[in-house]
Amino acid sequence: MKHDLFDRDDDLAHCKVCGGAEATLPAECPGRRMTAAEQLSVQRGTLDFRAGVWVRLLQHAVYRGDQFPTLNGEGALVRPSLHGSAFVLAQFDNLDLEHAGQRLAMGWHEFPAADFTPDSGETTWLS
Ligand SMILES: [Zn+2]
Repeated sequence: MKHDLFDRDDDLAHCKVCGGAEATLPAECPGRRMTAAEQLSVQRGTLDFRAGVWVRLLQHAVYRGDQFPTLNGEGALVRPSLHGSAFVLAQFDNLDLEHAGQRLAMGWHEFPAADFTPDSGETTWLS
C-alpha cells in the first residue's frame, strides 16, 4: 500500500500509518506502525517493505561458527545466498582477514547461516 504522508512541523513528510519519514520510509507502507528496530533497519538500508512483505537486504552479524576458529567474534555484513536459507553471503569488517588466499572484507563469501548470530536489536534472521 502507499504511504499516507503528511508534513509535520519538522518539514519532513511523515506517514500517518507506519510512522516512517525520509530515510525511515520503506518502499511501500507496511500498513501498521513500525517498531523502533524496523525503523532503524530501514534507515540502515538492511530492511525494506516491498510487494507486501518485509525483505531483509543486509544484516550485520557476528561469526560464531566452529569451522573457522580464527573468524570467531568477527563482525560481517550478511545477505541471503541464492543457494537457499541454509547459507548466507558474508563480507567481514576486518580488512586483514584472509581465508584460502581470499580477503574476506572484499566481495561476498558463502558460509552456513548457522555460523552467524545477528547483532542485538535484529531479532529476525534472514527471511
Ligand atoms: Zn507508511
